[in-house]
Amino acid sequence: MSLRNFLEQMEAKNEVFHIKDEVSTNFEISYIMKKFDNNGPILMFEKVEGSETKIVANVCGARKRICEALGVEQEKFYQRLLEAWRSPKKPKVVEDGAVKEVIEEPDLLRIPVLTHFEKDAGAYITSAVVHAKSLDGTIENVSIHRLQILDEKHLAIRLVPRHLYKLWRMAKEAEVDLDIAVSIGVHPAVMLAASSPLPLGVNEFDIANTLLNDSLRLIKCKYVDAYAPADAELVLEGRISASKEVPEGPFVDITGTYDVERKQPVVEVVNVMHRGDYIYQALLPSGAEHKLLMGIPFETAIYEAVSKVVPKVYAVNLSIGGSGWLHAIISIEKQLDGDGKNALLAAFAAHPSLKHAVVVDSDINVFDISEVEWAIATRFQACEDLLIIENVRGSTLDSSANQETGLTSKMGIDATKPLTKPKEKFERAKIPVSKRMEELTRKLLGE
Ligand code: MN
Repeated sequence: MSLRNFLEQMEAKNEVFHIKDEVSTNFEISYIMKKFDNNGPILMFEKVEGSETKIVANVCGARKRICEALGVEQEKFYQRLLEAWRSPKKPKVVEDGAVKEVIEEPDLLRIPVLTHFEKDAGAYITSAVVHAKSLDGTIENVSIHRLQILDEKHLAIRLVPRHLYKLWRMAKEAEVDLDIAVSIGVHPAVMLAASSPLPLGVNEFDIANTLLNDSLRLIKCKYVDAYAPADAELVLEGRISASKEVPEGPFVDITGTYDVERKQPVVEVVNVMHRGDYIYQALLPSGAEHKLLMGIPFETAIYEAVSKVVPKVYAVNLSIGGSGWLHAIISIEKQLDGDGKNALLAAFAAHPSLKHAVVVDSDINVFDISEVEWAIATRFQACEDLLIIENVRGSTLDSSANQETGLTSKMGIDATKPLTKPKEKFERAKIPVSKRMEELTRKLLGE
């Protein structure tokens, strides 16, 4: 399964909107992407100014498309992802693949990379899946990183102190550059696996392969010791420098505010492979797709952690308004009144960047913010049900957190019905209805 296969599938469901007017990679495409954000269709830009290459955007921009990519209903999604996390399966390595149709000298300026926002430092690749190995070959990692175009052969890579950063530090101590394969235009399952919170040592390609029912195929790069999906649209072979760093940023991150300029390592690109008619995949920073891809794996982690402290978790929403990252709404079944607060503590432990969390009963739809607000309005007492945790590690993406120490305050709201008060007081009023009236109103509403 490739991105191409998935696009064909979505085309058949009328989920792809083709834009035939000529548009520029400089702000014009990102502007259109923003206009179609939040549950919008996949966008195919057919005519890109100064380029023969088409651009696809918003591939994972809707929750239902991400579920369709894995072939599961939304209710079963977390279970499916959890099962894959627990059962990695090595993909087969093959000699040939569609991505090898063209192999050429690198010229990054020929790739239609977008410049997204007004004060961004420049053009950025935002959908790049990066594979690397530790020098001794025992640890492999796949993760998504933003890459700033510096010139024909060089990129700056943002390495948040996580797994790829660790592999790079290990190589740096040995004074060698770290080989990487940068894959652009891959199946959504590969993107989801690459953004999953797995322990160091788990190769996320193995998780993607499980999600794809053992159909992922990898190729070994020609010049570097790294791997890429054989059916990717575009692969850059490169090395992260052990010694060369440059200013990277400012750049808009998930909250829609500018992430600051920092010194980050340089990637030297040594070879490029792509399909003959490759499609470049764009991803709008702070768009719904960015939030869903980063958020859904953490919703799954919260689902798992909270499931251990309460009898049942119904749904988790890292809401779009909370940037898909800082706010969680969790619907649970509780047995005792203290369960709500334990659920909040478990959620904060499962997702260290989480800042505000609300737990609600199962009759509240966590994806409907008005219903969540209603639960807070009618079921929550601040002096009893509010949890505040001071000076804990949060996300530096939150502009209000201490930007140097990363410390923040967290707030949990237990908006579940108190078991000590009469049930009827919290009941949502219903109007009795007959089959005939149901049919009549459907007709009146034109459904
Ligand atoms: Mn990892």
